[in-house]
Amino acid sequence: MVIKMVKRVYNFNPGPAALPLPALQKAQEEFLDFAGTGMSILEISHRSKEYEKVHQTATDLVRELLGVPSDYKILWLGGGASTQFYMVPMNLYLPGKAMEYVLSGHWAERAVEEASIYGEVKIVASSKDKNYAYIPQNVEFHSETSYAHISSNNTIYGTEWHYWPKVPQDVPLVCDMSSDFMAREIDVKKFGVIYAGAQKNVGPAGVTIVIVREDLLGRAPQNIPKMCKWSIHAKESSLFNTPPTFAIYISMLSLEYLKEMGGLSAVEKANREKAKIIYDLIDKSGGYFRGHATPDSRSLMNVTFRLPTEDLEKKCAEEATKQGLIGIKGHRSVGGMRISLYNAVTIEATKKVADFLREFQQQNPAP
Ligand SMILES: *Cc1c(COP(=O)(O)O)cnc(C)c1O
Repeated sequence: MVIKMVKRVYNFNPGPAALPLPALQKAQEEFLDFAGTGMSILEISHRSKEYEKVHQTATDLVRELLGVPSDYKILWLGGGASTQFYMVPMNLYLPGKAMEYVLSGHWAERAVEEASIYGEVKIVASSKDKNYAYIPQNVEFHSETSYAHISSNNTIYGTEWHYWPKVPQDVPLVCDMSSDFMAREIDVKKFGVIYAGAQKNVGPAGVTIVIVREDLLGRAPQNIPKMCKWSIHAKESSLFNTPPTFAIYISMLSLEYLKEMGGLSAVEKANREKAKIIYDLIDKSGGYFRGHATPDSRSLMNVTFRLPTEDLEKKCAEEATKQGLIGIKGHRSVGGMRISLYNAVTIEATKKVADFLREFQQQNPAP
């Protein structure tokens, strides 16, 4: 056998994003002969006992690591988080009762657009006035509302909720947690529904995790397609149709890695440490690096900041790439840089990018 040295870079991509190396290695190891089947997992039935074990293990790991109570169902669905933008209203809208949303960024806007197809949407708070640089504070939702919707981490703008808003007792809080799912400890009981595309913190693109409180499964009207009903997927344990088996398998391996790290308290601790490394650098740069998010709303996942000029920003992204630091160019809506520090990004990688930025500032003073 020829042993080939594999080149791996430091990956700060915003999504799809870095995956834990041990998870990738395990997948590679068992790729051609999965669990003694003589086939890859891509080639076996989703009803086979070998796949069913993967499916169950992945689900159990989400429940265990996140502390999901027994009266919540955990679903693995295709279509991305964007599919939940319309499945949420399809499953939860109560005619005559508005759906209330907080507008905190691009993905919240997309979610509002889709909900508006189904009924009245009320925006209870927005940070659009400051290009989504902050999370609205003291947000409260109203009674007589179908549901209350927030996006816990705003991937493009680099802001994150650090408190949960007040909701009246009978109004379920629904959260798009795509870019900080399983990245910190949360109290699942505060939510009626949590959904998250896997491709930022827990796996590859192609699968979305939906956690729904059981009493909400009865809400959907009869006359919607079966594939759009959470209750059907819950009843069939996400095997109503062929689920994205490979994406669920890689998610399982990645969740096993999070468990080995010590679970979500250890994961959160590492994520806080990583974010602090970059925010400290920004705060001590004498204004050379200017954070986009206001300090009380800073994301632990996506650190967004500008440099003194657009030319320097361009140069910074190019030089980072040359040094094997990938994916730090910002989204066009904010400009500048965005460093994504999802679960699989190591502290070592974070220190590398911080060293790079420090050196870049020294060698490229503001004009
Ligand atoms: C990436 C992202 C999405 C979009 O997810 P898809 O799986 O591409 O549909 C939605 N919401 C948030 C917060 C995201 O970060």
